[in-house]
Amino acid sequence: MSSTRFDIIVVGAGIAGLTSALALQRDGTRVAVLDRHRAGTEASWAGGGILCPLYAWRYPAPVLALAAEGMRRYPALLASLDSGIDPERWVTGMEILDPIGDDETAESISATLASADIAHQWRRQGNADALWLPEVANVRNPYLLDALIDTLPARGIELREQCAANGLLLNAGRVAGVATSQGDLHADRVVITAGAWSEGLIPGLPTGSLFPVRGQMLRLEPRPENQLDRIRMDDGVYLIPRRDGSVVVGSTVEYAGFDKTVDSEAQQRLHAHACRLWPQLAEARITHRWAGLRPGSSDELPLLGAHPSIAGLWANTGGFRNGLAMAPASAELLAAQMAGRPTAVDPAPYRLERLIEG
Ligand SMILES: Cc1cc2nc3c(=O)[nH]c(=O)nc-3n(C[C@H](O)[C@H](O)[C@H](O)COP(=O)(O)OP(=O)(O)OC[C@H]3O[C@@H](n4cnc5c(N)ncnc54)[C@H](O)[C@@H]3O)c2cc1C
Repeated sequence: MSSTRFDIIVVGAGIAGLTSALALQRDGTRVAVLDRHRAGTEASWAGGGILCPLYAWRYPAPVLALAAEGMRRYPALLASLDSGIDPERWVTGMEILDPIGDDETAESISATLASADIAHQWRRQGNADALWLPEVANVRNPYLLDALIDTLPARGIELREQCAANGLLLNAGRVAGVATSQGDLHADRVVITAGAWSEGLIPGLPTGSLFPVRGQMLRLEPRPENQLDRIRMDDGVYLIPRRDGSVVVGSTVEYAGFDKTVDSEAQQRLHAHACRLWPQLAEARITHRWAGLRPGSSDELPLLGAHPSIAGLWANTGGFRNGLAMAPASAELLAAQMAGRPTAVDPAPYRLERLIEG
């Protein structure tokens, strides 16, 4: 029979929860990770898997810093996994057409990318500017999640699926565990990684601090002779090549609550835009359509750190559009803070205190 007492309970088994659990277990602690459904089936499954922010220069500097550190850490994360599943990380480069927006210049974009060590070159594409980021990779995120889940048993981490956290167990201002649909589970430390559903599990967060942002996607299968060899992006729509020749197209950004409906109008718009961007797609078969809920936050920054007034409660959430890219860096930043180790990235901008009064 499995235990009900752990050192650390991680609530939510998406990319944030799975990478956090693995990073925390390295510190020799007994870790359980819970999910109310099946692990790895929400935003982290639905995402595109591009390991670099889109229009990276338009994000707050702390988002870019964490994403850039995540990009650097991916090879080591993948090499550390105990799984026969290949997450298919593929350095294809990313081409962004017409990247210069209002109030931006090529110089300002170059300076921001250089500050994050993101290699880039400017090119002309017809009459327009294009930006080429040669080192950008994508990962087949559903396979990455499977590989992470596969690694848990070898590390002694207990995964509990169909186990919903209904609330925290508190004792004299400290966290004492989690009340779940499988009964009370006890731990001195609890980490909330419940994605778009995290707000209600972090006491004191004002309503609207964390919320779902729907993104719709589709996958197409071009003819075998037509192979896309790079990520291409224009006006917010991107094409991602996968190793099997399929192409993933994304994405919408919709504030529609906890609703994962796929609507035909948005899908048609994405499809038409994708075909303009790479005409070979016009003949490709559409094999899948889906939507996922990104964990958005009110100031676009992740919530990563200790709760200011409940000892033992931590969070690693709010990855919004970059949660996959940031994941290895976010998990390490969490684990280093929990262990009192020096951090590679300044933790201050992500602290919960900015939204919760202590
Ligand atoms: C369409 C789309 C495209 C994207 N593209 C990219 C991209 O190319 N690159 C990139 O870096 N990022 C991308 N993202 C963003 C990225 O996917 C997210 O930021 C990231 O996956 C969030 O991970 P998470 O673990 O925080 O959340 P999730 O993956 O949503 O995981 C949260 C988990 O918590 C569980 N949970 C919720 N409530 C409870 C509870 N009460 N008890 C127990 N478990 C609970 C859920 O079941 C879920 O499994 C994209 C997202 C979408 C939707």
